[in-house]
Amino acid sequence: MKALTYQGPGKKGWVEKEKPDIQKPTDVIVRITKTTICGTDLHILKGDVPAVTEGRTLGHEGVGVVEEAGAAVRNFKKGDAVLISCITSCGSCPNCKRQLYSHCSDGGWILGHLIDGTQAEYVRIPHGDNSLYPIPEGSDEEALVMLSDIMPTGFEIGVLAGQVKPGDSIAIVGAGPVGMAVLLTAQFYSPGRIIMIDTDGARLEMARQFGATDTLTVGKDDVIASVMDMTNGLGVDVAIEAVGVPATFDTCQKIVSAGGNIANVGVHGTAVELHIEELWIKNINISMGLVNTNTTPMLMKTVQSGKVKPEQLITHRFKLDEIEQAYEVFGNASREKAMKVILAQ
Ligand code: NAD
Ligand code: ZN
Repeated sequence: MKALTYQGPGKKGWVEKEKPDIQKPTDVIVRITKTTICGTDLHILKGDVPAVTEGRTLGHEGVGVVEEAGAAVRNFKKGDAVLISCITSCGSCPNCKRQLYSHCSDGGWILGHLIDGTQAEYVRIPHGDNSLYPIPEGSDEEALVMLSDIMPTGFEIGVLAGQVKPGDSIAIVGAGPVGMAVLLTAQFYSPGRIIMIDTDGARLEMARQFGATDTLTVGKDDVIASVMDMTNGLGVDVAIEAVGVPATFDTCQKIVSAGGNIANVGVHGTAVELHIEELWIKNINISMGLVNTNTTPMLMKTVQSGKVKPEQLITHRFKLDEIEQAYEVFGNASREKAMKVILAQ
């Protein structure tokens, strides 16, 4: 089969690789029908994630069809359409029983990281029963592929952890795919005001189309003063960080109101300053964490009922074997125009 593999810092290739086979009776082999490219893949390719070794197949979002199910798999059989969680988990260890799937003691693997991922014709999914979700007939696969990672990330780590409530004023710092997923899922709770903050005007324009009530451009607007103006000098009820750099976490600390919540979604590669000396007196709650994808079935229902349309985030479509061309579009300077890139086979 063909797969997109990491071949050392700055190097990748669409190469011939052995088709995966069942290694444990709980494994499922899935033929990929749709996958994506994500910002994380670019970090891995740069060599920023040393845990990823040469030869690893990248990609952690996908939908497909069951090609083969191991003898112990109960929920899936050959031919079933499935949504793949970016995290594989056993479903029965103490952490999985608390739905902390990313901390599974016999898994918790992120696809395309420590095990082979979805940018390939086939992928092996360990613990298939708990790591795959059935796709009902007639579903829009392009919408559902957004539920492998970005939508549950935005919802679980941004909206639920940030405890967004009706009428709240919220600020989302970062209008990338994850910030957009926060924006889409926050609207389940009817916040009163959604302020989207980014450096990129084109992304902010898109955010307005998806329901942001206000946008602020870093480098152009005085972000902190503007948020204070918009909130009668109080600050926002919930500040959500979806970039992963110290400056944006700092912004969240400055714009959150007394009694408010800061939900950190971004992955920080360096130390971040925490101003407890200012936050304690404001009674601030701070949350953070790795996505568990335990809300994926719930999100699937919201997609099916038309409450949310994550396929809006797709800006580019390619065939799977055009993946190197797709990386060019996603990774180069025209990046601001690409939000989610879909690869289909
Ligand atoms: P992205 O790089 O596509 O988007 C980031 C956005 O931030 C871009 O629109 C960029 O213009 C903007 N930005 C950059 N610097 C900024 C600044 N100083 N101020 C304001 N905006 C700025 O990333 P993404 O795919 O949307 O992911 C966002 C973050 O979420 C990343 O850190 C990613 O690693 C993280 N993430 C976390 C989890 C989790 O489980 N917690 C899961 C997936 C992704
Ligand atoms: Zn487990």
